Amino acid sequence: MTAKLLKDSKVSNSGEESFSHLVEQKVLSLRRNIISERADKLAEVVYRSVYVILDKVSELEPRFTVSEILKVGSYFEGTKIDKIDEFDFLVVIKELSKPGAIHINKGPDVFDEGYLMKEPGMVQIKLQDDDLKMKWRKYVIDDFLTGFQQPKDTHKRRQEFGSFVLESIKIFAKTQHEWRDLLFEPGVNMFFNRGGLTLLSISDSERVILKAAEVHHPNTVLELEYDGSAISVDLSPAIRYDRVKDCFKAGDCVNERLAADVLERGSILLVAKQGNTFRITFTETEVEYMREKIHWVHKLVYMYLKYIKCLYAKIKPGFQPFSSYVLKMFCIHHDINCTIENKTVSKCLDEVLDLMTDYLENDDLPNVFNTRLTYLDIGDIESEYRLCMLDGLRKIKELAVENPTEAYFNEVIKDVVEQSAGTVDFFRNKSLKIACQGVFSA
Ligand SMILES: [Zn+2]
Repeated sequence: MTAKLLKDSKVSNSGEESFSHLVEQKVLSLRRNIISERADKLAEVVYRSVYVILDKVSELEPRFTVSEILKVGSYFEGTKIDKIDEFDFLVVIKELSKPGAIHINKGPDVFDEGYLMKEPGMVQIKLQDDDLKMKWRKYVIDDFLTGFQQPKDTHKRRQEFGSFVLESIKIFAKTQHEWRDLLFEPGVNMFFNRGGLTLLSISDSERVILKAAEVHHPNTVLELEYDGSAISVDLSPAIRYDRVKDCFKAGDCVNERLAADVLERGSILLVAKQGNTFRITFTETEVEYMREKIHWVHKLVYMYLKYIKCLYAKIKPGFQPFSSYVLKMFCIHHDINCTIENKTVSKCLDEVLDLMTDYLENDDLPNVFNTRLTYLDIGDIESEYRLCMLDGLRKIKELAVENPTEAYFNEVIKDVVEQSAGTVDFFRNKSLKIACQGVFSA
């Protein structure tokens, strides 16, 4: 009897080890297109194209002169999977980022469709000196800086940040034959019927084509094409703010070391949102954490969760169980608190899933930098889909540990996701939980 138990636990240990290996191989294969010379080249050429466009923006509107183009988002964070299809940049507005240029008003009243929302992590901005107030007066309403846009007032569209991005591109387009194929709605969008605008290239064989650009208030999205693949580039205006302690309380952060990282950096970024509100972000500390500080095993777990989440999202377009950002928050929480000595994907994934279950059942998920800011509304339809995904992840692991081969693992992922997502009826979600549990106990 003892011998049998020993044998079983050995089998199961090796199954768990193999499972960790399978997840690692899966993630590495999902990053095959990301960690490549082609991706590096593309990142470089996209950055240079953005630089040239923003340089032209500053000629057209000197107020929007940019001091930094910050590389953010999953590609630069080292957690991108699947394919190179998006790049995110924060565009730092030079004049407003000088020390002492702005004052902030914390915890503003934010109205969302007529409802008052007290959202932690948001601020309003007042300009400090009279020269700046004068210079930026068309972007100031009731004393507060607007997010560089007034979408309701169509006449003023042309003074938005995004509008100048479009105008700049239009100037480049005029120098190229493709101009005749351009559909242009000032301040809103531009599309090329066919062809597109050739942006900077590294060599003749490396052409990046701009197909469209759209203002999404307050960010602007460029649609590019490179070597047959579509790439979306997101540009969000931001202000660098050096009085960190105005926006950040170390006591609100989940961890002392992380709080020290924020304070040592010496500035934070305020990213323009709708109307006159700006979001306090710790993007640079976060990108650095994910790139360099998080344990490799936890990074693997994060990418694996993102992959499974995307499969669920594909099955029910318009619904995703979790955003990548929320999954990242879970993994940072776990990284900070993980006490497992010999970390493996298998062991850490179990703990992350337990953590996710706890937060889903009992509480909101706090932002790691500001615990007053929470995610996951309980009771909405997504929350049911989230439980389904957690059950699915456990089931995938259970089956893969029993038979840890690559072919079976892939099959199991596909089957379990399809089967469990298929039980979700988004129009009758009452019976969902029961249906989901039924599938897995069967
Ligand atoms: Zn761990």
